[in-house]
Amino acid sequence: MQVWRRRHDPLGTSIGLVPTMGALHAGHRSLIQRARRTCQTVVVSLFVNPLQFGPAEDYGRYPRAQSQDLACCREENVDLVFIPNLNTLYPQDFQTTVAVSTLAQRWEGEQRPEHFQGVTTVVTKLLNLVRPARAFFGQKDYQQFCVIRQLVKDLDVDTRVILCPTIRESDGFALSSRNDYVTKSQRQRALSLYQALSAGKAAIAGGLRRADLVEKNMAKVLDARHGLAVDYLACCDARTLEPLSRLRGTVVLLGAIRIGGVRFIDNLIVRIRR
Ligand code: AMP
Repeated sequence: MQVWRRRHDPLGTSIGLVPTMGALHAGHRSLIQRARRTCQTVVVSLFVNPLQFGPAEDYGRYPRAQSQDLACCREENVDLVFIPNLNTLYPQDFQTTVAVSTLAQRWEGEQRPEHFQGVTTVVTKLLNLVRPARAFFGQKDYQQFCVIRQLVKDLDVDTRVILCPTIRESDGFALSSRNDYVTKSQRQRALSLYQALSAGKAAIAGGLRRADLVEKNMAKVLDARHGLAVDYLACCDARTLEPLSRLRGTVVLLGAIRIGGVRFIDNLIVRIRR
């Protein structure tokens, strides 16, 4: 990867990187297209990173679809697909981790204690290997984006991180590689997460500024459904991800639920003008 990069991007100004775990869908495609529009050279990485899965999580059964992924990258005119080997990325004597503190400890970090450390370690390695001028991430994983933005700032990484919008199905359900884990009826109930966040956004648009009331509005939409556990549903400052009491500025509504043993996360950003 480094030899290729030195040859193709000696000035370090042309590469756009889209890091993924493969099983590419329209969400990933939108990131690739955005990179294609803005960068001379597009690199997509496919790597199911064991470090970011907890011991009881789905590393083993995470979907792997390399030939379809390569076909997708070919269709999108990707210049290089980087598929690192597990033992090359993490040789036996590997012993360094990269961890972001406060931002990575709340919300997803509380539910999945090792997760972000795995993400920040692999993303640091990918950024060092590819040295992209820009790296593209989806709003679907908004906290992940915030954590990576912090990492890039704190460690003086010479890459611009770009946030790309969440791609959804026509009813609003956010695309995810894990969506196939659930039955049709579970998927219908999981859709209430997006509906709850939308109710929160509508309440804010209607003038509500008390976070507890907006959160109550959102919870009501979810409570109506059976067999669904709520991990969190909160109004936060979009930069720090701290929970707010009075809503102002740019707010992110964050939510995570579990249904049939599968977790779903989603979020909406709301800009409050006054
Ligand atoms: P993953 O393969 O799940 O690790 O995701 C790779 C990248 O694709 C991350 O930056 C995700 O945020 C992004 N992504 C996943 N799903 C979507 C979606 N529905 N819309 C936009 N970006 C997405």
